[in-house]
Amino acid sequence: MRHLRAPNMTETQPSAFRRLLSGVFTTARQWVDNDYCTTEEQAHAKDRVDWKRCLPFIIIHAGCFAVIWVGFSWFALAAAVLLYFARMFAITAFYHRYFSHRTFRTSRFVQFIFAVWGNTAMQRGPLWWAAHHRHHHQHSDDHPDVHSPTLKGFLWSHIGWITSPKNFPTDYSRVKDFMKHREIVFLNRHDVLVPVLYGISLWLIGWALQTWAPGLGTSGAQLFVWGFFISTVALMHGTFFINSLAHVFGKRRFKTEDTSRNSLFLALLTLGEGWHNNHHRYMHSAKQGFYWWEIDVSYYMLKIFSWMGLIWDLRPVPAHIYEEARLHAQNPDASHR
Ligand SMILES: [Zn+2]
Ligand SMILES: [Zn+2]
Repeated sequence: MRHLRAPNMTETQPSAFRRLLSGVFTTARQWVDNDYCTTEEQAHAKDRVDWKRCLPFIIIHAGCFAVIWVGFSWFALAAAVLLYFARMFAITAFYHRYFSHRTFRTSRFVQFIFAVWGNTAMQRGPLWWAAHHRHHHQHSDDHPDVHSPTLKGFLWSHIGWITSPKNFPTDYSRVKDFMKHREIVFLNRHDVLVPVLYGISLWLIGWALQTWAPGLGTSGAQLFVWGFFISTVALMHGTFFINSLAHVFGKRRFKTEDTSRNSLFLALLTLGEGWHNNHHRYMHSAKQGFYWWEIDVSYYMLKIFSWMGLIWDLRPVPAHIYEEARLHAQNPDASHR
C-alpha cells in the first residue's frame, strides 16, 4: 500500500512555490485517500504536529463554537448524547473488540456494517485503528508505544500522537487478517466518506424536522453542530482517555508489565473500556468487566447481538485468569503468573 519514492539526485530542484503547491496538493489528496503517497520520510518522520494534515481534526473541534449561532434545543442535546453512546459502542465493540482483537465472529456483511458504524465516530478507518491498537498491546508503555503517558507525557498520549505524520499511515502488515476483505480496505483508505455522509444526513434530518415538526425547536444547522461537532469531540476525548487516563488513574487488579488501570468512571464513560487493566491482562475476551459488578455495557449489547444471531463465538475469560485475580486479591505483593 505504501508508495515509496527514492530521491533522484539528477533531478533539478523545484522552486519553493512548486514545492509548496505540491505539498498542499499531497495533503489535500491524503485527506480523502489515506494511502496516497506515503513517503519514506513520512514513515520515518519525527514525532511532531502535522498542522496541515490534521486540519479536519482542528475544524471538528473549532466547529463546536458554532453553537453560539445555532443555539440550544432539548432535541439537539438528546441527539448528541444518543449519538455519543451509539458511536462509542461502535468504537469499543467493533473497532476495538472485533477489528483489533477478534474476540467474536460475524459474517462478512455484518462486519462491513460494523466498520461503517465505527467510521461515523471519525476516529479514522477500522484497519488504521486496529493496527495502532495491536501495536499498543505489543509495546504497552515500552519505548515504541506511540501513546504511553509515562513515556511521552499525558497530552501526547491523549491527543498529540494522532497529529504526528509518523502515525498517519496504516501499517497493513499488522492487519493482514483483514486484507482479503477489499471493502474494509477501501473504507479504511477513504475514511472520510462515511463522516461526510453522516454529516449530510444529520443536516437533512434537522431540516426535515424543522419543516414537519417545528415544535421540537431544531434545524438542519443546529442538529449538525450538536450531532457532528459537539457529540464527536466528546466521543473522541472519551475514547482517548483510555490511552491517557486509563494508564494513570484507577486500580490495578493484575500485575501487568504496563501501567494500565481499572476505573468505574472511565468504564461508564466508554461503555466498558475503563476496565483497562483487566483488558491488558487478557485482551482476547469479549468482556472487559470480568465480574458482574464491573459494568460493561458494550458486552451486554454484544450478548444481545449474539442472541439475535448477528455475531457468535464470543470469547470468554479463561478460568486461570480468574484464579490469578483471586490469588492476587489474597496476596497483592506476590506474582501469580
Ligand atoms: Zn492500554
Ligand atoms: Zn485492546
